[in-house]
Amino acid sequence: MTPSPSAAPTPANPAVAPYVNDTRFFGHPFGLSTLFATEMWERFSYYGLRPLLVLFMSAALADGGFGFDRPAAGAIVGIYAASVYLASLPGGWIADRLLGLRRAILVGAVLITAGHLSIGLSGYAPASVGKLTFFLGLLLIVLGTGLLKPNISAIVGDLYPEGGARRDAGFSIFYMGINIGGLLGALVSGYLGENVGWHAGFGAAGVGMLFGLLWFWMRADRTLGPIGTDIVHDPDPAVQARRERTVKLGTLGGLVAIALAFVAAATGMVTLDPQTVGSYMTVVLVGVAVVYFAYIFAAGGLTGDEKKRVLVIFVLFVFAAIFWAAFEQAPTSLQLFAKDFTDRSVLGFEMPATWFQSANNFFIVAFAPVFAALWVGMAKRDLELSSPAKFALGLALAGAGFALMIIAANEVVTSGGTAKVSPWYLILSYLLQTWGELCLSPVGLSSMTKLAPRQYVGQMMGIWFLASSVGNLVAGLVGGHVDPTNLEQTPQIFLWTTVALFGSAAVLALMIVPIRRMMANVR
Ligand code: GLN
Repeated sequence: MTPSPSAAPTPANPAVAPYVNDTRFFGHPFGLSTLFATEMWERFSYYGLRPLLVLFMSAALADGGFGFDRPAAGAIVGIYAASVYLASLPGGWIADRLLGLRRAILVGAVLITAGHLSIGLSGYAPASVGKLTFFLGLLLIVLGTGLLKPNISAIVGDLYPEGGARRDAGFSIFYMGINIGGLLGALVSGYLGENVGWHAGFGAAGVGMLFGLLWFWMRADRTLGPIGTDIVHDPDPAVQARRERTVKLGTLGGLVAIALAFVAAATGMVTLDPQTVGSYMTVVLVGVAVVYFAYIFAAGGLTGDEKKRVLVIFVLFVFAAIFWAAFEQAPTSLQLFAKDFTDRSVLGFEMPATWFQSANNFFIVAFAPVFAALWVGMAKRDLELSSPAKFALGLALAGAGFALMIIAANEVVTSGGTAKVSPWYLILSYLLQTWGELCLSPVGLSSMTKLAPRQYVGQMMGIWFLASSVGNLVAGLVGGHVDPTNLEQTPQIFLWTTVALFGSAAVLALMIVPIRRMMANVR
């Protein structure tokens, strides 16, 4: 897999043509099956572990947990998830400039597997060492996912050099793979973690990622040929050498800084309060976004039209971050609500609280084709919605989902905390949120590729994941406050989330016409 500048994925390249012209995977290139399965297992591990985290860390020591208070556990989950998405920025950069997409994915998969292994085995170590290997595992998953997630998505695009509707369809199949993995991960790890033992759940997530790693390792060469093995080369060897040195030094510097911070925290040299760290991190992430956009505007060499489109990206970024801040409360506030206040018995069987997480994945798999057909059908009748209109709809649907949860939480408060509410509240809430996600997430991804100036497509994808990063962090900070000893807090959280969602849907709705004008002919 030596990087070779000649391997650019265009149909004109004879080495690539057989791989992109192939139709053996439901009419799509067979290479998509490799990417589909690898990302499916990666998400199996990610969504298998994530809902267990808050339960495990907040479980009492006697129950095998860490005994952290819930706001701290929620904040840690938020920081973890924010870091996973934030790592996409350097991950994409390293792949473009140094490793190539394929090697980045492979290294990423190895790191994630090692991370899960470290977490799974932490239960067998003495308590102090166990805590260390647990957090080391989370760190490895962050670094690995940064290398894997953005780059595996980029290769999907490379399978369709002609772009167009077939590429969109390829991304839809890939998005379904993500959610099949998420669905199975939460079911398997959730069941094992809650009923057999925390570390059985963690271990299952790790075994899943190991399947993904082996699958990619054995099948990538055969099904993808030379696709994704090249890096961005400068024709001038001196410039190229300098660039590679910068990436190597940057990567090394980053790793050293992370290692030092880890050692400082592990040895107690500095004590970190997760909620304080989380709040500072929010400011840093928003700062990164503001500085980045300001830089692009001031020194990005953009034409007037391009500036308008980047401004649209900025607006979509802000509203996406708000959406994810609500939506990503699934593993925290909604998860805790499922555990404490929801009647989970079905025919004498107590459903694990984590199973509710799967509702979202299930609904995505069920409704993604419906929404795809809806958009196409509306476009045919000349009723096509613009991306800001779809975003506003997505925010409003999520708002309706959280409004339901206010009613559910008030039922609990009225009963003085003794009532267990119907599971349908959560299930319907997830259905509405999923419809919202389908209006916003795939639409956002494709809007980035359509609106970004040619030379900034990759970076704008990084910015898209930065919105997820900010959202996850805020969701973690807010979401840990669901607490049976402080009942009044729960409806308050859902109320403010609902107000924020409906409020931003209304503000964005007012902006649809001017934004459409700025988008000119981009749809
Ligand atoms: N559920 C999707 C995934 O896991 C999108 C998540 C996000 O961007 N916040 O890829």
